[in-house]
Amino acid sequence: MTIKVRFAPSPTGYLHVGGGRTALYNWLFARSQGGTVMLRGDDTDVARSTEAYAADIVNGLRWLGLDWDEGIDVGGPHGEYHQSRRLERYRQVAMDLVDAGRAYHGFETEEQLDTFRRQAQAEGLAPAYDGRHRLDSEEARRRLAAGEAAPIRFAVPRPGETRFDDAVKGDIGFGNTQIDDFVILRSDGSPTYHLASTVDDVDFGITHVIRGEDLLPSTPKHILLTEAMGATRAIYGHLSLLTGPDGSKLSKRHGHTALNAYRDDGYLPEAMANYLAILGWSPGEDEEIVPLADMVPRFSLDAVSRNPAVFDPTKLEWMNGVYLRQLHPAAFVARARPFVEATLDRELQPAEVDQIAAIAPFVQERAKRLDEVGPQVAFLLGDVTYDQVSWDKVMADPSVPVILARAMTALRTVEPWSASTVEAALRTMLEERGLSARKGLQPLRVAVTGSSISPPLFESMAVLGRESTLRRLTEAGKRLLDRWPTTDA
Ligand code: GLU
Repeated sequence: MTIKVRFAPSPTGYLHVGGGRTALYNWLFARSQGGTVMLRGDDTDVARSTEAYAADIVNGLRWLGLDWDEGIDVGGPHGEYHQSRRLERYRQVAMDLVDAGRAYHGFETEEQLDTFRRQAQAEGLAPAYDGRHRLDSEEARRRLAAGEAAPIRFAVPRPGETRFDDAVKGDIGFGNTQIDDFVILRSDGSPTYHLASTVDDVDFGITHVIRGEDLLPSTPKHILLTEAMGATRAIYGHLSLLTGPDGSKLSKRHGHTALNAYRDDGYLPEAMANYLAILGWSPGEDEEIVPLADMVPRFSLDAVSRNPAVFDPTKLEWMNGVYLRQLHPAAFVARARPFVEATLDRELQPAEVDQIAAIAPFVQERAKRLDEVGPQVAFLLGDVTYDQVSWDKVMADPSVPVILARAMTALRTVEPWSASTVEAALRTMLEERGLSARKGLQPLRVAVTGSSISPPLFESMAVLGRESTLRRLTEAGKRLLDRWPTTDA
């Protein structure tokens, strides 16, 4: 049997990190088994589906490093992968099920259904509608012919039980009395999720349905439908949901939930994919940093945890830092470049890229996210902008003007101009003045880079060059005399 899985996102919102992780597990499973991956567009909710969300989902999945063999954007042997374009097929299946006596036009009134539910609840039973108000087919036909519309409900066989061996959670059974005679086709002719999803899983030959555990209650319905269609049921696997560090369902309170927000904040897709993969699966004992390609041969659904997995933004950030440091320095610059351009709000000139490249290794060493790079290297490109908080904290000390002046004197004669010669000159100056490095170097850092948080000072000065360094020290001295920042004219 060739394994075939599907990603089945609904384009009614941005790709959620949990959706990304579900897709990733599907992909890892299929690729580890030499199987096929399909991307389906679950876009039957016309009012809420948008092209923009669909594009976000496709981009997000590709950004993570996933690929698929057929689907909404790449086509494939089944032709159409958008559910909104397969409505005729769903209607046909619903009608076939009616003809076979496995489904019926439900003429129940809201009142009948309400009364039923109240009664069931009062008796402590599952309020699953059991078809008791179903019309006989003669009468149903007559009312349809008279122009009445009615939804089509699936006739759940009762009593009975629907069991399956969940690939993640193990043996699971649902008593059929707990399952509604659920609607498969609404009275306006639109399919419900249950019908569209099941018909597609059957038509497209999906062998394994791996999805979030929120869909577990739907699975017995899908199995009953599949078998009523005369098809073989897929193997189902339900993934535990992601929680925040406090154990509650992952939500915006815990940080971003949209995958694209992590991309925009400067997370590497390699780190994101690695982190999502270890939320519920372990590539090996005490082993966490494993690139996607290396996970493929090791992945197994049996090893996926049944417990909820904690999405911890702090750990993700740490892992991103690990991946950032693994990049070749040139790759780091290339990845950081768009973020620096976003900080500056303009494109970089080739000479500026070279300047960034000179300082980048020192930024790379400590960075956790690519969006930190722009603010840290901006001082190299154009005029310095002073960060007010840094300035107020560091530059108010009465000794600062003298420190700036001495530093200028020391730096004027440094030959050749390099990080080590700059360092030697400044350290000698500090010693002569009896100043600690902290006290003596912080004002220089603020003067030269604009902030008390910057790449290492001597390297920064080296890359900036003597002329600019001296100019900035002069400039800062002047600002102090002008009593900046009270009059920043
Ligand atoms: N479109 C459904 C969702 O996004 C897919 C469910 C499934 O995998 O069957 O929730």
